[in-house]
Amino acid sequence: MKQENQLHGSSLNLAPEQIKKICAEIVDYLSNKENPRYTQKVRPKLTDRQYSDLSALERMPYHGSEAVSTFEKYIQLLTTQAVSTSHPGFLAYIMGAASDVSVLADFLAAAISAPQTSASTSHLTTMIEAQTIKWMCQLLGYPETGSGLFVSGGSVANLIALQAAIKKKRTQNIVDLNQYRVYVSKYSHSSISSAVSISGLLPDQCIQYIETTQEHTLSISDLKTKIKHDQEYGYIPLMVIGIAGCTSLGVIDPLLVLSDICMKEDIWFHIDAAYGGFAVLSQEYSEALKGMQFSDSLTIDPHKWMYAAADVGCILVKDPNILFNTFNQSGAYYSSDDLTFSNHLQFRDLGIQTTRSFRALKVKLSLEIAGRIGYQQMIEKDIHLAKYAYKLALDHPNLEAYSCHLSIVTLRFNPNLATDENFISETNLNKINQEIIDDLHQLGDFFPSHTWVNNKYLIRLCIVNLNTTEETIHGLLEAIDEVGKSKTCNYLTHMSTQ
Ligand SMILES: *Cc1c(COP(=O)(O)O)cnc(C)c1O
Repeated sequence: MKQENQLHGSSLNLAPEQIKKICAEIVDYLSNKENPRYTQKVRPKLTDRQYSDLSALERMPYHGSEAVSTFEKYIQLLTTQAVSTSHPGFLAYIMGAASDVSVLADFLAAAISAPQTSASTSHLTTMIEAQTIKWMCQLLGYPETGSGLFVSGGSVANLIALQAAIKKKRTQNIVDLNQYRVYVSKYSHSSISSAVSISGLLPDQCIQYIETTQEHTLSISDLKTKIKHDQEYGYIPLMVIGIAGCTSLGVIDPLLVLSDICMKEDIWFHIDAAYGGFAVLSQEYSEALKGMQFSDSLTIDPHKWMYAAADVGCILVKDPNILFNTFNQSGAYYSSDDLTFSNHLQFRDLGIQTTRSFRALKVKLSLEIAGRIGYQQMIEKDIHLAKYAYKLALDHPNLEAYSCHLSIVTLRFNPNLATDENFISETNLNKINQEIIDDLHQLGDFFPSHTWVNNKYLIRLCIVNLNTTEETIHGLLEAIDEVGKSKTCNYLTHMSTQ
């Protein structure tokens, strides 16, 4: 039977028992809260045996293999050895710990495998995605008369926003794209520069990096000066980008002021709220994020602070027609029904991808199951943990608290604080803190990351994790102190033997 299947090339469709067996093992892993992704090392090391087994597979096999045992091999490998963002100690970059709901919704989306391409075949999934986009607008206080879609992440959302802004200006007959100017602070995400370059603009010429204030927000006076200068020299201010929660520090730019400037100067106002936008649900940050509703476009990433499994980002735009005008496609092979079906909304006309996965489902189910209040509580818990970490660091004799915005805290080990002398130089403090991060990653109970600010190497915790608790934070700061002290000793020994 098996052989026959393989002869007909259908070994990829399984018998019911095989499907159930494989699913049961994955379900076991997911439903066991003592499972390795919560308890093992955050970044385990592959054993020699696992390395050699994987290396042995370098050549693409000619014959296929039995499905259940092949799955079991990968279930075993991946559930124990892949880095787990759900581990309570995973606090690196900005990577939401995937919630159970989002993982199961992804499984359902893959299981039904409904096409998301044309109106005639995607009627149901399109309706669900359109409704989810409306919910996102309601959640964030964004005008529901706008438009938007789910994409792979913030990088693509930023690219779509830039394309839309170019499309809008282009109606005014501008020939040389390099006359355009895009204004953003130096704390912008790298995807902004990449969007500019993918769009055929030269980042060196077209991006005006705006000075930042003491508080690391975009300087309004420098922005005004640069816009005025560019206008005088015949360049065309295309887009101002406000960051709502910068990747390094979580700082929010003055969004309302930016919105006023853009309105006055007829410049497209984009907000990169990939990470921080969801904090509008919190008591504390709802005011600072008020300007979001006035933006022409807004990037927001459910796979960050909505705890959705990667990947899912979202772009919202105020003008309901601009995405269609920028991206709509036609082809001899598309059904003529596409234009008459329902309200002929099809998401392939609003973005870069034609065939798309059903990313909206995990967002819809998450919103429906948690509700607005559920999300408010989860986000406020993360903000609370960040403050808790900051306070612990402030009170700690060897830790220097540097910043705390949204759910991002930066700090460093600095034993100079405990004495009157600066017996360790800035350069060496940077080295010690780098070594602390390396050691913590090796030890495997905690996985913070770092950032550089004003030539200081800072340990950075970004808490977008449902499983992190005060105990985790306390343990991490103790570990930083402990590893730090051992490094200082090494360092002092070095000095005395020189
Ligand atoms: C993470 C991030 C991005 C990039 O998003 P991806 O989902 O990784 O593509 C863009 N902007 C900001 C501010 C971010 O934090």
